[in-house]
Amino acid sequence: MAGESEYKRALERAAHHCLEHLAALDAAPVAATASLETLRDRLAKPLNAGPMAADTVIDELVRDTAGGINGSAGGRFFGWVIGGSLPAALAADWLTSAWDQNAAAYACAPAETVIEEVLGGWLKDVLGLPQGASFAVTSGCQMAHVTALASARNALLAKRGWDVERDGLFGAPRIRVLSSDQYHGSITRATRMLGMGTGAVLGLPTNANGQIEAATLEQALREQSDLPTIVLLQAGDLNIGAYDRFADLIPLAHRYGAWVHVDGAFGLWVNASARYKHLLAGVEQADSWATDGHKWLNVPYDSGFAFVAHPQSHRSAMAYEASYVTHNDLVREPKDWNPDWSRRGRGVAAYAALRQLGRSGVEALVERCCAAARAIAVGIAALPGAEMVWEPQINQGLVRFIDQHAGANEADHDKWTDAVAAAVLADGEAYFTNTTWRGKRCMRISVCNWQTSEQDVARAIASVARVLQA
Ligand SMILES: *Cc1c(COP(=O)(O)O)cnc(C)c1O
Repeated sequence: MAGESEYKRALERAAHHCLEHLAALDAAPVAATASLETLRDRLAKPLNAGPMAADTVIDELVRDTAGGINGSAGGRFFGWVIGGSLPAALAADWLTSAWDQNAAAYACAPAETVIEEVLGGWLKDVLGLPQGASFAVTSGCQMAHVTALASARNALLAKRGWDVERDGLFGAPRIRVLSSDQYHGSITRATRMLGMGTGAVLGLPTNANGQIEAATLEQALREQSDLPTIVLLQAGDLNIGAYDRFADLIPLAHRYGAWVHVDGAFGLWVNASARYKHLLAGVEQADSWATDGHKWLNVPYDSGFAFVAHPQSHRSAMAYEASYVTHNDLVREPKDWNPDWSRRGRGVAAYAALRQLGRSGVEALVERCCAAARAIAVGIAALPGAEMVWEPQINQGLVRFIDQHAGANEADHDKWTDAVAAAVLADGEAYFTNTTWRGKRCMRISVCNWQTSEQDVARAIASVARVLQA
């Protein structure tokens, strides 16, 4: 094959650079160090008139991006909710690219279609969801929400004699979404994309533990009880990892004919842990669920999953069957369940991640991350001038920093908390991001990486201590 040696040269350079990057993570600053100007200066070249050798392209990419890559693949990255990549998942991701299948259908991706069939069953097992649920292998939780809420839209409107797939939403009954006030921005976007509008979402107040009280939900359900209603419950919200009380709220919502959707972007994974799965009690009674592979399962990006307890609604919302499309009734055709058509076989990396970990490995990953989050939060909160705002119940915690000047007020503490977080980033030892929670600026601690070690925990605490002493 003419291109063989060119593949070999380019792929070997890429493998070399990847290994170098991963090996350097432990010692390198965890935040990117190159400025926006530097990155633009290096990368914004005039497009070359003619071709370049593939391996030169790869070497140049690595040179030009130097300092512009956050250390999110390593164990000292605690910003947002961001996972690392397990070795088998990363390697399987490379294979997926080399195979270059179109995972839309069995005809164009036979093995990957079977992998996704199997993956769906494994995921439902690990996450404690009903085996009869249908699923989609999406780009992330955002599109998992779109898939699940499109299924909800179908079911709620079909019950009212409205065919939304055929007739659209003009003239249809309005759908409302009752949620906790801690819902993620991806829900807002899902309601926009699905024509429900952001105005459809009503954020209900939560209790001290970030949960909707049954009485609050019931009151909301009772008002305008004739409206088609989606109840959105949280399995691990992004700030404090709060879990709604599914065993109480789901049957309640069902009594009012609502569809219950669960945002479990990372929080559904605690089902793998004997220690934490009680947080999910009753979650299997919901109508749909969304989660990510690229957060807590440590699959490279482009990995999310939607599950729907009513396969017919899911299929009606997503399937496309046209005469020119190859259809195989004997297998699960991915594009009948997914919001996209042509796509990479993104299930392969998640399959490999689960194979590498096994059941006990997922449990250990979850418990290790929770223990590390708690240790970091407790360690930082013990420093003079620091304060625990939310001690991690799972892998998410909040701390803040108190401005020590006499007469300092809440606004000063907010400013000081942002200043401390910025100084910690500059210190290069740990990466945290800030959030506003219940009116206070806080530094969020999120641990989602299989590599985070006790040493990483100690380095993170030491870095904050250094900043506070400066
Ligand atoms: C990250 C996150 C999402 C969005 O997931 P993406 O994979 O980024 O699309 C939704 N909900 C929660 C709670 C999250 O943490």
